[in-house]
Amino acid sequence: MTAYRQNQPLCPTCSQPLESLDTHAPQAVVDICKQCGGVWLDWEDGDFTDLARQIPPVAGRTIARGGLGDCPRCNKELIVEVFRDVAEVLRCSECAGAFVPYASIGKLSECTPAADMVEQPKGFWARVIGALKTKFPT
Ligand SMILES: [Zn+2]
Ligand SMILES: [Zn+2]
Repeated sequence: MTAYRQNQPLCPTCSQPLESLDTHAPQAVVDICKQCGGVWLDWEDGDFTDLARQIPPVAGRTIARGGLGDCPRCNKELIVEVFRDVAEVLRCSECAGAFVPYASIGKLSECTPAADMVEQPKGFWARVIGALKTKFPT
């Protein structure tokens, strides 16, 4: 794994450089924005994509220009998806990446039934949140 990236990804919402976050979750690359607390996920094994596909897409819901940007990886448009009717996730239309606003992270963790987390039995979101707390001490 290469720690240094030539093209540092930028936060889609506030254009700050994303910082690599070690969640100890295999096959997932997580970057955080220290400005807004959002999390960018590169879900390399496709589990996140599969999970997302279980959720019906919200028709016609796209991100307003000016406030939200494009995919940090491939500059494609990000599309808002709503998980469990409570948490907004900005998904890339091109790659398997997704941006999770800080406000959505806790909601995702709380609202995802354990039965749906079989692919992530160790509590992936709990780990992300735990790692975030080390970055954002309260
Ligand atoms: Zn940000
Ligand atoms: Zn992308």
